[in-house]
Amino acid sequence: MVIPAISEFIQIVNIGAHWVRISTLGCQAGIVRIFDSLYSKPSSVAIDHACRMLHHPQNTVTFLDKRVQKQVGSSDCAIFALAFATDLCYGLYPTSQRHSQKEIQQHYVTCLKSGAIVPFLKTDKRAPFHLGCNSISVPIFCLCRLPKDRKEYVECFSCHGLYHPDCVSIPEWAIKSRLQWNCQKCRNTMAKMGSKNILAGFRAFSRI
Ligand SMILES: [Zn+2]
Ligand SMILES: [Zn+2]
Repeated sequence: MVIPAISEFIQIVNIGAHWVRISTLGCQAGIVRIFDSLYSKPSSVAIDHACRMLHHPQNTVTFLDKRVQKQVGSSDCAIFALAFATDLCYGLYPTSQRHSQKEIQQHYVTCLKSGAIVPFLKTDKRAPFHLGCNSISVPIFCLCRLPKDRKEYVECFSCHGLYHPDCVSIPEWAIKSRLQWNCQKCRNTMAKMGSKNILAGFRAFSRI
């Protein structure tokens, strides 16, 4: 269960034996930054999680997988995700920070003991980084505003939007017969157009 965020967010997400950080802090609408110390392509779990939090009204969400320090080995991803999140909370941009991987675990223990998370120690020494920033745009659908999944969809006859029968009230006949079905948004537009036409006709009639 992921609740849509009511403001910009920083979130650490487990994408299956690996932790990454996602954030919309300082981003334009519909853009999510991913800070991942291991991989340079956004995972489908992180994308899904971000879309659930973002609940973006437009048709696509853009993911920027930012160039950050790359961890050595496979066991410090959670600490790196914490380090990136902490930096951002303190106004330090993670793409320009170099952490001492040897000391980040001890730093976290010290933070827990003192009851306050402060920016992780930096180093002047060389550290491996991802090569660059990858960007992908992901189309989103339905009222749930999620990327396409393997579930059943019904297509709106007017706007061609795709909707899960579980997310909107779609009559059984529309699912089974594939006859013309219009989504609520299009039905509202049609109702407005209809009432405008009636009003326009009434005005024209009044002038005569
Ligand atoms: Zn849906
Ligand atoms: Zn529609």
